Amino acid sequence: MGNSDNKKTKKIKLNKLRERMLKDDSLPLKKGSTNLVFGDGNSDSDMFFIGEGPGYWEDQKGIPFVGNAGVFLNQLLQSIEVLREDVYITNVICYRPPQNRDPLPEEIAAFQPYIDKMINIINPRIIVTLGRFSMAKFIPGVTISTIHGKEHEINWSGKNIVVVPMYHPAAGLRNGEIRKRTIEDFKILPKIVNNMENPEVSIEVEQLELV
Ligand code: URA
Repeated sequence: MGNSDNKKTKKIKLNKLRERMLKDDSLPLKKGSTNLVFGDGNSDSDMFFIGEGPGYWEDQKGIPFVGNAGVFLNQLLQSIEVLREDVYITNVICYRPPQNRDPLPEEIAAFQPYIDKMINIINPRIIVTLGRFSMAKFIPGVTISTIHGKEHEINWSGKNIVVVPMYHPAAGLRNGEIRKRTIEDFKILPKIVNNMENPEVSIEVEQLELV
């Protein structure tokens, strides 16, 4: 574990953060949503995944990546022998935009303090961005086609962390080339983890072939 908070402390802090978000009526998109879609997974994980925003099923269930894109994300994780419950997953916005449109800059900005706090609580060593909106949060001014699947070291709250931009899983569902590219790109994650000391996510060397 990276910082001094133990798993129980992290869970308590995350629950408080969730409560604060639920009470915050200034958050955009709250009115039209069924549920707040907070983060989900292992609060102690070194691997933090961040997507765009909830879709229909995420809004219904209050859990990120449980629709079609989530099925593909689960397959990608399985292909590198990572259990979904061993990583932490969230989005740059936590309420569903109408008709699943792209999140607006002012919406991302409104959720940003909460998402930043969530990252600080989890204190991951690797952040995997899913799609261009979460990529831009950490690596602004680049295009995803040039940097997907590559590791970038950034400074986050005074600590060096690795950011790995990936195409959004929904893009892989629409486009076979992007699907193949993303399956290849995910193979960098075990390599990064295997080079870390005492990772909180363990990955077997041998991986399953996903085609
Ligand atoms: N797409 C996202 O970006 N996030 C989700 O939670 C589901 C689909």
